[in-house]
Amino acid sequence: MLTKEVYSKTCERAVEYLNKAGIVITQKEKNEMEVAEYGLGDVENIGLELIVYVNTDRCCAKELILFPGQTCPEHRHPPVLGEPGKEETFRCRYGRVYLYVPGEPAKNPKAKPPRGSEVYFTVWHEIELSAGEQYTLAPDTLHWFQAGAEGAVISEFSTKSRDEYDIYTDPRINPAQNRKV
Ligand code: ZN
Repeated sequence: MLTKEVYSKTCERAVEYLNKAGIVITQKEKNEMEVAEYGLGDVENIGLELIVYVNTDRCCAKELILFPGQTCPEHRHPPVLGEPGKEETFRCRYGRVYLYVPGEPAKNPKAKPPRGSEVYFTVWHEIELSAGEQYTLAPDTLHWFQAGAEGAVISEFSTKSRDEYDIYTDPRINPAQNRKV
């Protein structure tokens, strides 16, 4: 659990990155910013900050903020209620993000899994996104991502987000208790 103090400091810091990306949000959106720490208590390394713009039965749009080296842990979005699972497009707006999916593993991956959690990062095909570049993930595809040295702001466009059904590789993460991407 995040303390109130850590939560508000983290949000303030995330807003600085949105400013760098030239993304304007309302005070209400700022107040409703979410900090995902996945119940691991190590938000600087495993976590992310997010704003949900819209999440209807059909589509979803979010802004994701990652501090330098901050990592979103490996997960997938399985079929739910007869639907194929969440399809996601990540578009980098600021900084750089290293995204990993199934496929030919990178020989010298640019991201490093957080120490002590290496075993829970199993897909190593590397996709590097700089500002202005994007990538679309098919439903039910394992993925994880980490910001480069400058941090990253990523716009996410997807089908409906149902966080509670997501499947994490790290068994310590309980999806029912966490916001995810
Ligand atoms: Zn995802």
